[in-house]
Amino acid sequence: MRRTGFSTRSLWVASLVEIGVPLLIGTTIGVLTSLLAGSLAVPRLDPMPSLQPPAIFSTPWGTIAGIAVALPLWTASIAGVIARSTARSTRWRCCTVNSDGPIAYCHHISRTFIVRGDDVSALDDIDLVVERGRLTAIAGPSGSGKSTLLSILGCLDRPTTGRVVLAGHELTVLSRRQRRTLRRTTVATMLPQPAHNLLLARSGTHNLTLAARQRHAGVDGIAELIETLDIGAFVGRPCNTMSGGEQQRVALACALAGSTPLVLADEPTGSLDATSAAHVIAALVRATEAGATVVTASHDPAVIQSASAVVRLDHGRRVS
Ligand code: ADP
Ligand code: MG
Repeated sequence: MRRTGFSTRSLWVASLVEIGVPLLIGTTIGVLTSLLAGSLAVPRLDPMPSLQPPAIFSTPWGTIAGIAVALPLWTASIAGVIARSTARSTRWRCCTVNSDGPIAYCHHISRTFIVRGDDVSALDDIDLVVERGRLTAIAGPSGSGKSTLLSILGCLDRPTTGRVVLAGHELTVLSRRQRRTLRRTTVATMLPQPAHNLLLARSGTHNLTLAARQRHAGVDGIAELIETLDIGAFVGRPCNTMSGGEQQRVALACALAGSTPLVLADEPTGSLDATSAAHVIAALVRATEAGATVVTASHDPAVIQSASAVVRLDHGRRVS
């Protein structure tokens, strides 16, 4: 079984707040009840009541009444916290699957955007299974929902309806923070706009080293990536001095650096000539041979031919 490690610190802090606040309220109500019961039980004969000790200490009835009120509140708050954390860990366990199964699957997902009050359906009732170690191509004409599907697989977006399971975790039950952690540890995404993937003022080499370090990986595989993608001639230059196609290849190298289990590449050959596209396809295939799972959105026939699984979309619906 494989699980992605999440910090439990936030759960502890949340539980402390969940326990602390009701306990404080219970104690305050208990003390107030105790003072009230104490003052009713002890007639104040002393003309100087300020010299008397507080009623809570002076009579057992006040103390008993206070505890009697506070005790159910304390019990209820502690029981509530235990029930909530048990439910959380049960949900967490339920969505853990065997590491030999698919790395991701989508079950009847739809995604609707609301544009100026109108519904725009980007995905309509899609089922998808992404098998590990494969190059899966999502094909279809422009506007068919390819990028939307990749965004959902990469935890950058959520479906309007349906379930998505990624690396054993059902995304709909994860908090925003847990989804962010899952994305960081499991997914590397190459967006179609190079500027969204790179620090443009820095060199390609800097971007590559940064990507590998962020994934806690060494820089050993970077030289091989530079060679496979044939980017050695310009990778040392600042990215804002490269052409769009050169930036795109450097961006793909960044996505592949550090051996992330799932690599999502959106139109990786979008602005490339046939020779550069062949280098990109070779890099994608090599990544799957090294154990990664690659999903790419593309309408490039060369990419689709090289894929071991092809999913075709049209107007947001899966057609094959
Ligand atoms: P593809 O990548 O296949 O070209 P997209 O997934 O980008 O298609 O878009 C699918 C449909 O969803 C399109 O009709 C597009 O206009 C719409 N769409 C995508 N993103 C948004 C958005 N953020 N807001 C509104 N509509 C969107
Ligand atoms: Mg797209």
